[in-house]
Amino acid sequence: MNDTQRIIEKAKQGLRISLKEALQLVKAASIHELGRLAYQIRTKLYADQAFYVYNQHINYTNICQNACRFCAYSKRPGQDGAYTYSIDQIKEAIKSRINEPIQEVHIVGGLNPDLPYSYYLELLKSIKEIRPGVKIKAFTAVEIAFLADKYDLSPARVLQELHEAGLDALPGGGAEVFDPLLRQKLCPEKISGQKWLNIHKKAHNLGIPTNCTMLFGHIETWEDRLHHLESLRNLQDETGGFLCFIPLPYQPANNNLKAEGPDGLDFLRMIAISRIFLDNIPHIKAYWVFAGIKAAQLALWYGADDFDGTIVEEKIGHAAGADTPRGLTIKNLCKFIEKAGFRPVQRDTFFKVRA
Ligand code: SF4
Repeated sequence: MNDTQRIIEKAKQGLRISLKEALQLVKAASIHELGRLAYQIRTKLYADQAFYVYNQHINYTNICQNACRFCAYSKRPGQDGAYTYSIDQIKEAIKSRINEPIQEVHIVGGLNPDLPYSYYLELLKSIKEIRPGVKIKAFTAVEIAFLADKYDLSPARVLQELHEAGLDALPGGGAEVFDPLLRQKLCPEKISGQKWLNIHKKAHNLGIPTNCTMLFGHIETWEDRLHHLESLRNLQDETGGFLCFIPLPYQPANNNLKAEGPDGLDFLRMIAISRIFLDNIPHIKAYWVFAGIKAAQLALWYGADDFDGTIVEEKIGHAAGADTPRGLTIKNLCKFIEKAGFRPVQRDTFFKVRA
């Protein structure tokens, strides 16, 4: 048995593989070997289930004081196309879908220097007033750090106050790639990877679960990717607060980074190694908005178990060239999952299955 086969057997037995072993796998194992192993792991956990959530996205502002090189979404104040939704506009957006059984509202936006702290609290409270049963997954660690800095509060206090106003979970955005040198090239003004991890740790300690992500397929190497995954795995060992990992394929359009984005095989390898390596993070998401529906369907055979949701009105990936629909109906979402050979199962933000 060669080294690669030995690592495959080890992972098959449910034993944790090291970063070095994961590197050997992605470099030496065929896509079929990786896929088969990841599929076995996801099937042992979830059989033929593929999860989805009935959700609504709200991108409340695209005005941002940062200028990440890969970002096609952000605008400077006053720039053409810059927008900020008022609380009333957000209430209208929530009311406009009040007859749909939406389970989750997902909210992220830019770092808008003109919004008062009260806006964030009011936003959460207003949504909960209109839809008391909905779960709100809102504000990346980058937005939390921005509020803490701007209003001279600790990140823990910001998290606690937002939690009291209605925040149920944090999305995983803003992680990009943790390596400091890469971060300098990609997003020099953004909080460090360590700060991103610290904010998630604080959220977990306050009983706020979170998702985690990695933006891949630009200028990073496999070593960078696996170091990133190892940092997530280490934090999860400590807190157990991550619900789901979402590998986000880089979208190449309308930004200042000269990179192509991952091809289909790279995407599937990334999904597979995520399932194999992150043995303590329950769910791996094939985010159809960034991956494309066809690749997301395939990803269910390569270790992913979650398809995200209905979304409607996604702006961030589409600004960067994602050519997927802006939203899917439940009927279509389920049809895509079934056609891929899996059983669609509706879940909530915490991955609790809906009866
Ligand atoms: S990625 Fe986020 S923080 Fe960076 S420029 Fe875009 S909106 Fe701003």
